[in-house]
Amino acid sequence: MLYQLPLASQYNDLPEEQLRQGILGFKRKLGRKLVILAHHYQQDDVYQFADFTGDSLKLSQLAAEQHDAEFIVFCGVHFMAESADILTSDRQTVILPDLSAGCSMADMAHIDDLEAAWPLLEQQTGAAIVPITYVNSSAAVKAFVGRHGGACCTSANAKQVLEWALDGTTPGAAAGEGRKVLFLPDQHLGRNTAYALGWPLESMVVYDPKQPDGGLSADSLRDARFFLWKGHCSVHQLFTPGQVDDIRALEQPYTVVCHPECSWEVCQKADQLGSTEAIISAVRDAPTGSYWAIATEVHLIHRLAAEYPDKHIRSVARIQCLCTTMYRIDLKHLYWTLEQLSEGNIVNPITVDPETKRDAIAALDRMLELTPTPPVLSV
Ligand code: SF4
Repeated sequence: MLYQLPLASQYNDLPEEQLRQGILGFKRKLGRKLVILAHHYQQDDVYQFADFTGDSLKLSQLAAEQHDAEFIVFCGVHFMAESADILTSDRQTVILPDLSAGCSMADMAHIDDLEAAWPLLEQQTGAAIVPITYVNSSAAVKAFVGRHGGACCTSANAKQVLEWALDGTTPGAAAGEGRKVLFLPDQHLGRNTAYALGWPLESMVVYDPKQPDGGLSADSLRDARFFLWKGHCSVHQLFTPGQVDDIRALEQPYTVVCHPECSWEVCQKADQLGSTEAIISAVRDAPTGSYWAIATEVHLIHRLAAEYPDKHIRSVARIQCLCTTMYRIDLKHLYWTLEQLSEGNIVNPITVDPETKRDAIAALDRMLELTPTPPVLSV
């Protein structure tokens, strides 16, 4: 994880209104040279200044289309800024306003651990193995996957990508036949997706990079079809089956929709599973007066509730499930970044080296070939 040095005290002392007016002024000064992107989980104070909002992949694709923009300020987390740098041209600079805005899930799959795991899995599984990584992973992990014939996936297209990786291997196949999958870094998305494709839970094992041999016996390595990397989203794992039961006990007819980064136990109790974009579409298209209980990041839920006051929208949880790392990008850091840019100083550039870029693009391209327009509803 990268570390952001504290800002000089002058920024801490600025009143919020001055920060807002300053940001607007810097935006005007930089004009079309600047594009600000904000992820859906971003706090409203920052979100309001975005030129484009979306999920991580959509934002990176949008960034690549902004040919006039020299500076892309990404109000998201580190792996998203890396993806933007991978997909944009060399004359564009991607900037993360706070270097400490990482992703706990992406950090759970370190490239060194993956390099160590791969030979073991290749030698001991007894079948061809295909690595698949959720886009919520570092550029180095994406590049590894690209080099080894695998693909990226999003929460919206994980099903199609897994079907491709399995290459016709069906749930009835014997352990030594067909292809196996290493799914990184989110065990829950991997499990929920494979299960939705008809694979039983017994066909999946969790690979723990902190344990010798991933914590797996020789039999498990041979018999499993899916090796789910021991990673998770620290936000979505806060949702529990009991919280869904509490929603069901209410007299209002809530539709429960969960992001597939939630655990299998939670997802099994949901009415619908959906990626971030799918959740937004489901709520937007729902009839007036409908009731929605959502298991995802709290800023998105609050924004949906504000945008659709004619519908009843709440979180599945009573506690605030927020992405604390993305939350580090605040008005002060956005102000500082833009102030520096307007004075000709680039702070916090995120750059991926050319070799890593090339291999990561291979993994992203494979995904895009499979799902040129990711479906709205996932798993
Ligand atoms: S919500 Fe979870 S997966 Fe998304 S950036 Fe935050 S920690 Fe990472």
